[in-house]
Amino acid sequence: MTRAGDMTTGDRYEVLAVRYGTRQASAREVFLNYHSYGEPDRPLGMDYFFWVIRGPGGDIVVDAGFSAAGGQARNRTALLSTADALGAAGVTPALAPPVIVTHAHYDHIGGLPALGASEVIMTEAEYAFWTSPMARRAQFAQSAEDDEISHLGGLRAAGRLTLAAGSFPVAPGVELLEVGGHTPGQAIVLVRTAAGQVVLASDAVHYYEELERDRPFSLVADLPAMYAAFDQIRELEQDPGTVVVAGHDPAVLDRFPGRAGSDLVVRVA
Ligand SMILES: [Zn+2]
Repeated sequence: MTRAGDMTTGDRYEVLAVRYGTRQASAREVFLNYHSYGEPDRPLGMDYFFWVIRGPGGDIVVDAGFSAAGGQARNRTALLSTADALGAAGVTPALAPPVIVTHAHYDHIGGLPALGASEVIMTEAEYAFWTSPMARRAQFAQSAEDDEISHLGGLRAAGRLTLAAGSFPVAPGVELLEVGGHTPGQAIVLVRTAAGQVVLASDAVHYYEELERDRPFSLVADLPAMYAAFDQIRELEQDPGTVVVAGHDPAVLDRFPGRAGSDLVVRVA
């Protein structure tokens, strides 16, 4: 792994968070066993993002948002379709930017058809789980759409799905890191930029409060792995210049005030 200050390709990456959806939630819905903290419930906004890593070699897209059907089925508010959100972020799907999928929940893979020419990279553990019978049990199935999991199968059959394990280099200075916890093969993405490392935590950290108060999220496949991912991300934060981008926290908009063209496109680095 390169270090901050090395003049590598990775130092020239720009990282964008694209806020394409939103909903009103509450602490009781968001945190696992919230009653155990002895605090009253409180409203919490939940935002939906995907991310774009822009470098000299082109764009890398991280996740693809929910589909119209997947969002509507759960009463989520779409601010932009995946196609429009990609356009707002300056991504050209026809150029087939590689797509890293952090996990296979509906709000991360539903928009993949809008990136129909792209290669997709995800963890083998995630793919294996969602194509197994266990994924059909209600507590898992509520977060996935059958046709969207089938889409991954179609990519695999077409030789356009790369399955990774552990740590996987996607491009110089861009690394997929499998952490598990939220889902069996949940991944985070590390990006080396001029200012330091960007940790795209996706749903390993939905809200900064999970990291700061050690509070697991309500949907969890493996609780010890979720806590261990918090530890791993805190360890990464020890490196000066490191910034963590939470997966669903409206605070991302405040922590990173820069915008790229649209109010919905947040410049992270
Ligand atoms: Zn999510």
